[in-house]
This record gives sequence, structure tokens and C-alpha cells, in this order.
Amino acid sequence: MKTRGLIIITLCFSLFGQAQDSVSRTGTENNIRKKATAKNIILLIGDGMGVAQLYAGMVVNNGHLNIEQMKHIGLSKTYSTNDFVTDSGAAGTALATGQKTYKRAIGVSVDTIPIKSILEIAEENNKATGLVATSTITHATPASFIAHQPSRYNYEEIAEDFLKTDIEVFIGGGLKHFNDRKDGQDLTKTLKANGYDVIVNPDDIVNSTSDKIAGLIYEDSPPKHSQGRGDMLPQSAVKAMVTLNRNPNGFFLMIEGSQIDWGAHKKNTDYVVEEMLDFDKTVGEVLKFAEADGNTLVIVTADHETGGMTINEGDIEKGEVKAKFTSFDHTGVMVPVFAYGPGSEDFCGIYENTEIFHKMKQAFGFNDLKKSE
Ligand code: MG
Ligand code: ZN
Repeated sequence: MKTRGLIIITLCFSLFGQAQDSVSRTGTENNIRKKATAKNIILLIGDGMGVAQLYAGMVVNNGHLNIEQMKHIGLSKTYSTNDFVTDSGAAGTALATGQKTYKRAIGVSVDTIPIKSILEIAEENNKATGLVATSTITHATPASFIAHQPSRYNYEEIAEDFLKTDIEVFIGGGLKHFNDRKDGQDLTKTLKANGYDVIVNPDDIVNSTSDKIAGLIYEDSPPKHSQGRGDMLPQSAVKAMVTLNRNPNGFFLMIEGSQIDWGAHKKNTDYVVEEMLDFDKTVGEVLKFAEADGNTLVIVTADHETGGMTINEGDIEKGEVKAKFTSFDHTGVMVPVFAYGPGSEDFCGIYENTEIFHKMKQAFGFNDLKKSE
């Protein structure tokens, strides 16, 4: 673990070294401080992952997590426009679009006007895009990056919104929102016609060789990690990275550990910890890719804290933790942000959740481009 951390720190320095080199070489760009541009961005969201959820996982894992390898750390303020305590719709929309909005909103402003997401902006700039989640793929967090709906509960409309984009890879649950609908349409047929490999069996994800994957691998929500989901998240994340990386222009990928939140809503420490460790295993796979690639910005954060979780007792050597929860709902505390790779130094400090969108846009170099409209 220690050796690996050192390798990453060294790599960080060498990346910044390169960025500075390019300033002195080009030198023509006004006086604006030219930052390293990331070819790829991978945003990992631990739904409901506050510091206590993170530390509970760390203690049970005998004191360390892969997330620790990310040395640029900040805190984000998560409140929504109409409620101090946000939800995954408003918070997902803030991360995806850079605008605060009302609870339950999906990719729309307070006036229910659609706002372009970082995923859609990446598509416009010829990058490949992907979404991976351990919830239904139509659930609030992934939906915020691709759909525009006045309510997060418009699952069938959110499914239709997937067909209005050029997303290359999406993997999660929620098949029924595509093929068992009130309007009788079978959207999986349209997806196939549009060139997607539509996969409905979790075991088939690793074998797909297609450039376009619609992984609707559970009818409804995926099961818990401990109840049969296994390595679905890390395996899907690897498949998404490998597939999207075929695009020479780079990619944007959002990966969600959806069920950290669900464990905390149930005030179930074991559930929180198992999902936390599954999420961290996925972070480990992503950092491995980013370390080898050298051109990938990785961000790990949460949309909000869930449960008002705190840790009253623990034993790092035995990997034991005793937690308490103050709420069955989300809370208003700030959540951690971890970054690694080109542009990661911008994520230090305390800022609004909406800033994460702007920092990603900056890291992609999109702020330097003329608007296409
Ligand atoms: Mg979520
Ligand atoms: Zn929740």
C-alpha cells in the first residue's frame, strides 16, 4: 500500500512538471495560467458517503482504503435551492450541470428548464461517455447526467432520455423502465437498432466486445453486494473504461456506488461498510487505469451525507466498527472530494457542489473553446 502511494505521488509531480513545461514552450497564451488538460475524466460518486461512511470502511479494512491515494482533497457544500438537506436529484444535477436546483429535479433548473450536463458537453466535444451504477440506471444520480425531467420519479421518461443522446456505455439495473412500460414501447429494440449491445445478464458484461453497451442487467434495482451482486461494480467500471478508451478524443465516465446511501437510510452499519468497500475496490481499479494512462482526472465525492452517521467505537486491528445514526434521511454536512491526475490540484479547498462541474469543464479545457451555439 505504501509503495503504491509513493508511485502515485511521484506521478502527480511528473504530471505537473509536464504542464509547466508546456507553459514555457507555448508561452503565447496571454497571461492566463495554463493548466494541465485531462483527456479523460472519471467521476465516482459514493451516494450518501460522508466522512463517517468512508472511515467506517477504512477501519473495517484495517485502516486503509484506495481512496487515500488521492492527495488533493476538498469539501463540498451540498444544500439545494429549496431545502438545506438535499437529495440525489438536486445534488446530482448540481454536480452534472453546475447549477443548484430543487429537490427531485433531474437535469433541470428551478424553472424546470433543461440544463446541459458535463456528459452532454463531453459528447458535443466528440468524447465518449458512460454511466455505471449499482442502482437502476434511471435512478436520480445517473439520471442527472443524461436526462432532463421535472421529477426523479419519471423513470420511464428518464429511460427515453437515454435514447436522445450518444452515450456509449451504460450499466446498471432498471431493465423494466425500458421494456415493461405503460406506453407499451420496448426501448431495448430501439437501442439494438441504434447499435448497442443490449446486455440483460450480469455475467455477459465482461464478454462484450461492442463499442456501445446498454447493460440493463437487473429488472429493477441490483441486489446488495452481500446478496449476489458480487463484483458487478468494479467489473462494469473496468469494462466501461476499456470500451470508452477506444475513442481517441477521450471520455467522460460517471460511476456510482449507489447503495452506501441505502445502507445508511436503514441505519445498517454492515450494509454501509460492504457497499463502501465495494465502491473503494472500484476506485482502486479506476486509479490503476489512471496511473497507467497518465491523462485521466479521477474525482471521488458524494452527493450528500446519509443517516447522520458517526462512529462511537472501533478497532482498526480487528477491523471492527460501531456506528450510530442520527437520522433515517440525508443530512446537511459537507462531503469530501478527492482528486487525482491532471487538474486535481484545483479540487483542494471548500466550495459549492456546483463548482465540481466547473472544475471538470476547466480540466477538459472546454472553457477555452468557443461556444458551439
Ligand atoms: Mg444515487
Ligand atoms: Zn438517499
